[in-house]
Amino acid sequence: MTLANGRTYLAIPGPSVMPDRVLQAMHRAAPNIYTGALVEMVEGMVPDLLAVARTEARVAMYIANGHGVWEAALANTVAPGQKVLVIATGMFAKGWAEMARGLGIDAEVLDFGDRSTFDPAVIEEALRADTTGAIRAVLAVQVDTATSVRSDIPALREVMDASGHPALLMVDCIACLACDDFHMDAWGVDVMVTGCQKGLMTPPGLGFVFFNEKANEAHDRLDIVSPYWDWAVRSNPEMFYQFFFGTAPTHHLYGLREALTMILHEEGLEAVLARHEKLAQTIWAAMEAWGKGKGRGHIALNVTDPALRSHAVTSVRMQAPNATALRDWVTDKAGVTLGIGLGMAAPGDPAWHGFFRIGHMGHVNAHMVLGVLGTIDAGLKALQIPHGDGALEAATAVAACA
Ligand SMILES: *Cc1c(COP(=O)(O)O)cnc(C)c1O
Repeated sequence: MTLANGRTYLAIPGPSVMPDRVLQAMHRAAPNIYTGALVEMVEGMVPDLLAVARTEARVAMYIANGHGVWEAALANTVAPGQKVLVIATGMFAKGWAEMARGLGIDAEVLDFGDRSTFDPAVIEEALRADTTGAIRAVLAVQVDTATSVRSDIPALREVMDASGHPALLMVDCIACLACDDFHMDAWGVDVMVTGCQKGLMTPPGLGFVFFNEKANEAHDRLDIVSPYWDWAVRSNPEMFYQFFFGTAPTHHLYGLREALTMILHEEGLEAVLARHEKLAQTIWAAMEAWGKGKGRGHIALNVTDPALRSHAVTSVRMQAPNATALRDWVTDKAGVTLGIGLGMAAPGDPAWHGFFRIGHMGHVNAHMVLGVLGTIDAGLKALQIPHGDGALEAATAVAACA
């Protein structure tokens, strides 16, 4: 038999769970796109977007997913033939580097592996070696969604300052904005990219590039900027259609408006961040208990140092092929979908069957997280995958002291 026939739960790291209120806000007739309520609403959303990024910089909005804003950020700052330095702690940074190469940009990747963060000394050496200032930007991913490693962005700024290098600091916060703490201005970030479908709880389709004056000076020095990606007009439109260089994504905007209201004006950003932290700790407690005793060598958090773990996504190692068996079981028997391993090994490679991820970003609360953990516990027992005892008790103990 199956116990999956209730409301299903997509516990993957994006798209995230969307509040019913967001979906209901989108369920309406086509609005007037010339004047009136929609125009005012979008103008009013800009300060809220800046508040989530904690910046007084500017924001350009795009009808795009994360890959789109990767390209947008590069198209506005770096010319073909110029160079970027990419700090990799997982697959997503490497993806951004590939995007740069596709634009004719020379991308040097410093790969720090899949389980830990960057070594500042290695970055400092690379920056100091660049005596001609060829590197125009340092690209980093705050939370790499494949590995769930969270990198210390202020430490990256520090090493760039220490080496006296003038490159822009560009950060991908697609996985973790409004889940893990981020301060664009205080941390000295010049460009930040994010999307609406993870922490911002809105269906995939909107992307954002935040940029400061220094980044805009780099933009102004370029001979050519792709007209569609150009952030100049989008971030400072005289007419409504210029926000999106054409027809606005009307219904997504209503959804995002509702999500921003929930995050900023109801729960409050600090409370949202605290909720994500507590829920992440709840998950870690269960994983650590499963990985003890009989579970040793069978289940382990990918990131051993808690300070380097994201509050938005958790990556878990399991002895292959158990991760795939477990994912299939929780989907078929319990209506929960867990994230696949990404970039750790190619599909078809047995190692791919030794990794899964839980997305806990956005509209997620204790009963959802505890439900996923209970479901995993049932799956481990049903499949007779070796695991330590007491995981659910450990998780509920963390949730109980919220
Ligand atoms: C999800 C994600 C992306 C890619 O976003 P898409 O919307 O799938 O294009 C890029 N970087 C990070 C860190 C992500 O989590």
